[in-house]
Amino acid sequence: MIVNLSTTKKILKEFNIKLKKRLGQHFLIDANVLSKIINIAKILSDDNILEIGGGIGTLTESLSKKAKTVVCVEYDKKLVSVLKELFKDTNNVIIIQADALNYSFNPLISKFSLNKMVSNPPYNIAATLIFNMLNKYPKIENYIVMVQEEIAKRLTAKPRDKNYSAISAKIFFISQIKSCFKVSRNSFLPSPEVDSRVIEIKRKKFSYENIDKEKLFKLIDISFRHRRKKLVNSILSEKDWKLSKIQTENIIEEITGNRNVRAEELEQEDYIKLYKAFFKNYK
Ligand code: SAH
Repeated sequence: MIVNLSTTKKILKEFNIKLKKRLGQHFLIDANVLSKIINIAKILSDDNILEIGGGIGTLTESLSKKAKTVVCVEYDKKLVSVLKELFKDTNNVIIIQADALNYSFNPLISKFSLNKMVSNPPYNIAATLIFNMLNKYPKIENYIVMVQEEIAKRLTAKPRDKNYSAISAKIFFISQIKSCFKVSRNSFLPSPEVDSRVIEIKRKKFSYENIDKEKLFKLIDISFRHRRKKLVNSILSEKDWKLSKIQTENIIEEITGNRNVRAEELEQEDYIKLYKAFFKNYK
């Protein structure tokens, strides 16, 4: 098993790996956390798992023992060569070198019938990466991911929470998120500055007919663009906005009862109503 301090140190030394902070390289060294993740993921023998950010294969190793296939994507070329060496005799592990944020996963998803993502993704891209995967790749329905506490809070925040942001509003429309358990920063080498959390996300179908999901998401992004400002001002700052200030304010007031409301005060359903009102008469 890779997952312990001494084996991790041994691999780092043997392959002469210099850790890169900018790639969020914090490797799991806590066997208890690993087995909890594997349990929550309920991996079946016909599951085909996508793992993003393989590191030195700590999670990959355990996943490969239960799943049919594990496709492990890693950006760092040095780590890719280490992973290829470590898993050269494990025939259900496929290692791919790619930047997961700028990669089209469709060919991999079809080729290996990927259905689940289990991952400890790099911290700096985790929120965007998870959202993009959910939004773009409907075939992957279940996600068990370990993210920084702050990111977990941001993904699960409700309207008016201090962490409620565009991503919280958008992700609600395409998934259900469950917070599973907290992971101490000491469970990693090197230990990061904050604790982490394992969350489980189930994709759900976007259920509003006659609404262009991408256009709705754009409206939400625009609404949150200036967090401290009134919603009307964020919306008016959009260069292509066709309505006047008064028209925009009237619609906001009609829906929320308050023309001075801010983006973080709106319920998700309010965004649907705003969308309908804004795009009904004026294209
Ligand atoms: N899953 C391993 C490693 C987690 S660290 C473990 O739990 O121990 C995150 C990993 O993501 C690092 O190996 C880092 O090199 C990799 N990574 C960073 N940016 C990436 C990107 N854009 N695409 C894919 N992998 C990336």
